[in-house]
Amino acid sequence: MSSSVLLDNLISALQVMPGVGPRSATRIAYALLDRRRAEGLQLATTMQEALTRIELCPCCRNYSDGGKCSLCQNVKRRTSGVLCIVETPADVQAIESSGTFFGTYFVLHGHLSPLDGLGPQELGLDVLEQRFASGEITEAILATNPTVEGDATAAYIAAMAHRHQLVLSKIASGVPFGGNLDSVDEHTLATAITQRRPFA
Ligand SMILES: [Zn+2]
Repeated sequence: MSSSVLLDNLISALQVMPGVGPRSATRIAYALLDRRRAEGLQLATTMQEALTRIELCPCCRNYSDGGKCSLCQNVKRRTSGVLCIVETPADVQAIESSGTFFGTYFVLHGHLSPLDGLGPQELGLDVLEQRFASGEITEAILATNPTVEGDATAAYIAAMAHRHQLVLSKIASGVPFGGNLDSVDEHTLATAITQRRPFA
């Protein structure tokens, strides 16, 4: 217990950050109070704005400032006809950093996991099916994580894509089984995308 209830509240609130436990939270709280009050207030404003205003893009379910995200608004990307399906917004960021993909994305925000209550509805697969049906997509690239759940999700989406006669591919090896896309280095990810294989 510290000398101030407000300080206790701050230390407790900071622990919402991934990887921040009581010790780190205490260190951060003192650093903000001792030396960085202005920056801390700026952080609070930025967090407030981001957390209240960022929404899911109605086209790709990636984060946007409201309405369509900037990637979906890009005409060149939209008319490419290529759609890359990933599990998380961090995966989009990782693929963008690899500089090898110029189509649009669809973000599932997870993988099929009935035990956790994650079914087709929660992953937005109805929205994805509408995009498949729109006639704007010619090729779908499955870039789910190489895990049992990721592969099962890819198989489910593949069946949907086949119903709409889309060319279907899966990112190539190089991404270790059981790994996450956003932990793979840019070069490996770039190779995995350019050497993608048809998905049977
Ligand atoms: Zn979008």
